[in-house]
Amino acid sequence: MPNSKLIDRCNRKLNYLRISITDRCNLKCIYCVPYDFIPKVPHKEILSYEEILRIVRISVHLGISKVRITGGEPLVRKGVYDFLKRLTKIEGLLDISLTTNGVLLKDNINKIKSAGIKRINISLDTLNRKKFKKITGYDFFNQIWEGIELAQKIGFDPIKINVVPLQGVNDDELQDIAALSIEYPFHIRFIEYMPMGTNQMEIDSHLLFPEIKKRIGQLGKLIPVDKGMNDGPSERFKFESARGEIGFIHPISRHFCNTCNRLRLTASGQLRPCLMSDVQVDLKTPLRKGCSDDELIEVFLKAASLKPSEHNLSVGHSAGVSAQMCAIGG
Ligand code: SAM
Repeated sequence: MPNSKLIDRCNRKLNYLRISITDRCNLKCIYCVPYDFIPKVPHKEILSYEEILRIVRISVHLGISKVRITGGEPLVRKGVYDFLKRLTKIEGLLDISLTTNGVLLKDNINKIKSAGIKRINISLDTLNRKKFKKITGYDFFNQIWEGIELAQKIGFDPIKINVVPLQGVNDDELQDIAALSIEYPFHIRFIEYMPMGTNQMEIDSHLLFPEIKKRIGQLGKLIPVDKGMNDGPSERFKFESARGEIGFIHPISRHFCNTCNRLRLTASGQLRPCLMSDVQVDLKTPLRKGCSDDELIEVFLKAASLKPSEHNLSVGHSAGVSAQMCAIGG
């Protein structure tokens, strides 16, 4: 395996590529997209699976060893299961995971498993069916929950559940959601809301890590868990005798830019070195002009060189990113 060649100006080794395979989504979460959001990227401008796989192969030679497939909603893209199968066969990738809203999980979980995906993250911000509809615009709670239970039954481990705590929306449920980690072997990850693009939230809907942790801590003692290889920025805890875990991801109250190891590939073929910056480097144009692998490597190196030392997102202050979260994939 080659050593990482993607080392940025701050000496961070970039070994993690998050790939959005579509900007289409089957939900309209209030913190992610505006009400009237219509995906803008015409199909021909979306990278083909063939193009994505070529990019991944090249990135592996540059030291990328971890890939996450995201969207939009990745499971709405036609042909996704064959794509996943081909992706998991690429040598050198040590960790391949998928982030989904779970709407299509129940009917497709076996296909995801037989494609070779072992780790999935499911986004679920409430345990209340009516509230789910308010947050996402659709009445899919029950089928998502069935999908999660099925994923557990057929052996996905860990199953991570992503929750964005929002003041006045789901903050009354944080303990109930955290308590899932006692009964189920789930890793519940509370992610601070990041204002970006346009969405339906007030900028001050933030609920920050110290307050989230305080409220959840009222349920029982939170015992710190050591970081594992695939943890990323999450701070992990466990309730005594719980089957699962709690994780906190706090890009705002305690940003972790100094350890950020990520690059992001958008569905339209742009490499973004920072989630909270509109800086991006175009991979698609050279790719479609028939460029060599070496030329694509140059694009990767350029993206790495442009990675900002840190983002400037703070409470009540958007980072000024115009791209929608759903176009980048979180
Ligand atoms: N559709 C998939 C899903 O729902 O998991 C993948 C795409 S979604 C953009 C990826 C993750 O980003 C989700 O866990 C979602 O909760 C999170 N997310 C979206 N907008 C966010 C925001 N403004 N702040 C924090 N997390 C956000």
